[in-house]
Amino acid sequence: MTLLLPALQSPTGPAASREAVRFGDLSLTYGRLAGASAALAARIADAGRVAVWATPTAETVIAVVAALRAGVPVVPLNPRTGERELAHILADSEPTAVLAGPADELPPALGKVRRVTVDARAETGSATAYGEGGGGAAAYAEGRGGGAAYAYGGGGAPADGGAPGPGEGDPESPALIVYTSGTTGPPKGAVLPRRAVAASLDALEDAWGWTGDDVLVHALPLFHVHGLILGVLGPLRRGGSLRHLGAFSAGGVARELGSGGTMLFGVPTMYHRLAEVLDAPAGTAGRDALAGALAGARLLVSGSAALPVHDHERVAAATGRRVIERYGMTETLMNTGIRADGVPRPGTVGPPLAGVELRLVEEDGTVLEGPEAIGEIQVRGPNLFTGYLNRPDATAAAHTADGWFRTGDVGTVDTDGYVTIVGRKATDLIKSGGYKIGAGEIENVLLGHPGVREAAVTGEADPDLGERVVAWVVPADPDSPPAAEELADLVAGQLAPHKRPRTVRYLDALPRNDLGKIMKRSLHVR
Ligand code: ATP
Ligand code: MG
Repeated sequence: MTLLLPALQSPTGPAASREAVRFGDLSLTYGRLAGASAALAARIADAGRVAVWATPTAETVIAVVAALRAGVPVVPLNPRTGERELAHILADSEPTAVLAGPADELPPALGKVRRVTVDARAETGSATAYGEGGGGAAAYAEGRGGGAAYAYGGGGAPADGGAPGPGEGDPESPALIVYTSGTTGPPKGAVLPRRAVAASLDALEDAWGWTGDDVLVHALPLFHVHGLILGVLGPLRRGGSLRHLGAFSAGGVARELGSGGTMLFGVPTMYHRLAEVLDAPAGTAGRDALAGALAGARLLVSGSAALPVHDHERVAAATGRRVIERYGMTETLMNTGIRADGVPRPGTVGPPLAGVELRLVEEDGTVLEGPEAIGEIQVRGPNLFTGYLNRPDATAAAHTADGWFRTGDVGTVDTDGYVTIVGRKATDLIKSGGYKIGAGEIENVLLGHPGVREAAVTGEADPDLGERVVAWVVPADPDSPPAAEELADLVAGQLAPHKRPRTVRYLDALPRNDLGKIMKRSLHVR
């Protein structure tokens, strides 16, 4: 079977001295990461399921890699999650230990879970270098729920502790349980088997010519699919390396891409901030360094939410480079992506990746064909999750009888197979006066207006139209916001009269989550 992390399987010679990860001034080679993760794997081998306090640090990488090597399912936790949501995730996922860095202060919700401290700096490659919060490995026997049964079908038991090695065990055994972003409701735990992680990373390697020679510039959080599976496991799988910025900054991106970095993975808010810097006049020091660094990168990738066309264009104008988009979900990992050797087209997320089947479906279940069709995107393939943890109801509701996953996203597919995301069925598809209107294209028009900094479009109940189009706008200059009429005319003129916003509301900022995704469910009149 395919190993999940072959490059960490006893690296020797030059492979062992190659840099695996860099966080600020802390760099770990493959040799050190392999040693550290094997030592920790041996100590957590008896744990039924572990949580990782997923700060953007080398400790998080060691912890996740160790759990994968031990065959212990790992639940990455967002350190900024509020107490209530954290309590929900802990009650749902029942970790028997939490792996955290030496400086991490864990909130009361984690008080009952055994802490295992991971210290990347103390690490010397020997098994004794880890501090552990009381008890030692034997303490796991006391942990609640060790080896607990999983509430979904098909999962095998975690591999036993014997000799931990990457990818050991049943391909269907759960590698990670990742909680969705909570954009449309409370986060759900997606159980991701080794098979899905391997399949999705293989498909990206194929699409992007991604190899162990790539150096990824990384500034994403490490508790979601994008930052953790693509951004950490992706490079480590093939002996490549990643440099994490800690916190995103345009200067950091310029510095790392300008000194050996080959790829950048970002969310739209990051490319937006880069585009703002690139908008400065040529000759401005920071701007020129950034433009040069982006121009020299092998691959600039955006995902997690739609990248506004306006930002695509600004990056392209300043650097001559196109950002490519890929489309994925926690439950399905990656579905589509523009290939490195493909034709990038702003506003589209590219064709289905290798192994992924994709179709558009009408509300009544009719499968749609042709470039005019707009329907729910459904996918099938080896990239799919096993199910939602403890939620057989939600798992069943998310699948069709013949095994397709209902993404809840609405899209189109053009004649050459490129997919365009119209938006989410729940929040971005407005049914107004007999038309189905996608929020995204209206947002793109509004964002093209120089007086608009941020824009979101929603539907609100309307006695005549069923729903009416509402635009939420953050003006570039709060003292002179563009007039509602002017914005509405712009949309009607560029798109169609029925897409005209009937109401324009002004805000200081849009509500966003940790990945910068707009939380449309928070956009309502109070
Ligand atoms: P929840 O499921 O908890 O409401 P979420 O759907 O935001 O949250 P994720 O699994 O992190 O949680 O995000 C997947 C969603 O992100 C997709 O269903 C899609 O709506 C959106 N998305 C991802 N990539 C893109 C992209 N390139 N363009 C547009 N939308 C994207
Ligand atoms: Mg979702």
